[in-house]
Amino acid sequence: MPKQEETEVLVVGGGQAGVAMSEHLSARGVPHIVLERGRIAERWRSERWDSLVTNGPVWHDRFPGLTFADADPDDFVPKERVAQYFEDYAREIDAPVRCGVEVTSVTKRDGQPGFVAEYTDGSTRGSIVARAVVAATGAFQQPAIPPIIPGDAAVTQIHSSQYRNPEQLPEGNVLVVGAGASGVQIADELQHSGRQVYLSVGPHDRPPRRYRDRDNVWWLGVLGLWGKATPPEGADHVTIVVSGAKGGHTVDFRDLAASGITLVGRTSSFDGSSMHFNADLATNIAKGDANYLSVLDAADEYIERNGLDLPEEPEARLLGPLPECVTNPLSELDLEAAGVTSIVWATGFRLDYGWLHADTFDELGRPLQQRGVSNEPGVYFLGLPWQSSRGSSFIWGVWHDAKYVADQIVIQHNYLEYRSHDEQSESASPEAGTSPAEPASSAAASSADPSTPAEHLEKVSAR
Ligand SMILES: Cc1cc2nc3c(=O)[nH]c(=O)nc-3n(C[C@H](O)[C@H](O)[C@H](O)COP(=O)(O)OP(=O)(O)OC[C@H]3O[C@@H](n4cnc5c(N)ncnc54)[C@H](O)[C@@H]3O)c2cc1C
Repeated sequence: MPKQEETEVLVVGGGQAGVAMSEHLSARGVPHIVLERGRIAERWRSERWDSLVTNGPVWHDRFPGLTFADADPDDFVPKERVAQYFEDYAREIDAPVRCGVEVTSVTKRDGQPGFVAEYTDGSTRGSIVARAVVAATGAFQQPAIPPIIPGDAAVTQIHSSQYRNPEQLPEGNVLVVGAGASGVQIADELQHSGRQVYLSVGPHDRPPRRYRDRDNVWWLGVLGLWGKATPPEGADHVTIVVSGAKGGHTVDFRDLAASGITLVGRTSSFDGSSMHFNADLATNIAKGDANYLSVLDAADEYIERNGLDLPEEPEARLLGPLPECVTNPLSELDLEAAGVTSIVWATGFRLDYGWLHADTFDELGRPLQQRGVSNEPGVYFLGLPWQSSRGSSFIWGVWHDAKYVADQIVIQHNYLEYRSHDEQSESASPEAGTSPAEPASSAAASSADPSTPAEHLEKVSAR
């Protein structure tokens, strides 16, 4: 007989989103369980390439309550260190995370409040009944590969999430499709391993890594761009090319070409032997340059307006000449003739909530939600791109979104508790939390640490 237990909130996924959610639920005294099918921060461990470091410096890419004590604040730390950070964090806050447990389905209960989640740990199955469910399974769930070349073509094909290091690929040259943060770093690594790399470049933004003594993440902050609630018109799919590799540097496609990489336009089709590329390479590079220069302009303006004493950097505006591969681009590439034996698809991810049976998805399977609150009462999302702002799918941003979602859960809980104390217990305290503004339960309220979550964690860490 499979076991069934009950909790107030079930959090599915134990990445940064699940850990942040747990912190905010605990701070509000809300009983919950976090189920993670792998280990804490599993994707940082096993779905990223070996040499990946954070795209943001660790003074920024962290939760408020814990620093990367062993790193300089301006460092970009290896992915394993990020995973360790979240594991340490979960331990510090005593997060009730159960690892190795995959949620296979969540369905509404019939005629009763809440949801039932079925799970398996590989050997046993079980279920959990919860009043609310938070889907914290990430923004980068399933590899998205455009259907351009058949899977059984005579070339090795992997997605960037499966790429680990150059040795993994068969000998020969490589086509990397997609020049976002992942594509450019993987292409650079492969080129330096001695292969000829072709990099297919689509539309992109490429902000400066640092300008006038401040990192890009700082500029995004002071210019109010992290906090923007919606992407710029038509730009929600424009990839942002930033890198923390080699200590952090501005990505300039001229430098990649100078290292030997052949840049090509957006990959459009395959004819059985050759890949074909759009004639958009120069346009894409020019738009990326324009984006780069617009950030410098905005930064200069900000410095001027606020009278800041930050060193001038006129050389940042000097863009070199366009390389031959941009001025005279390839329109097609015969893979065999070019010795291309592998294609790395750095083409992004799609969502997959196949396990969540709730009335809150559009026809493309995208969650219908506002700041994580879905159309199905009791179902919440966390970690989605632009969930509340540009920061939502990033480490620091998800922490703030989790706080909001936790508040919404408590408010909903208190509506559901309305009058239940009067009906169930004559001795119920009149202060019991039945107002949307109050904590989840009187017991929770009396045991909750009054300090903020971040302060609480600092106290725990100091012990
Ligand atoms: C290459 C790359 C580099 C990035 N670099 C940075 C960076 O430097 N800084 C930054 O702030 N952000 C970065 N991000 C963005 C973001 O921070 C990460 O993608 C992060 O992993 C998202 O965390 P999450 O908790 O929302 O989702 P995930 O890390 O994807 O966590 C979701 C968890 O849910 C689990 N899960 C999924 N389905 C189930 C199920 N059915 N049952 C149980 N468990 C399940 C998964 O195993 C996973 O551990 C990067 C993203 C990518 C792709």
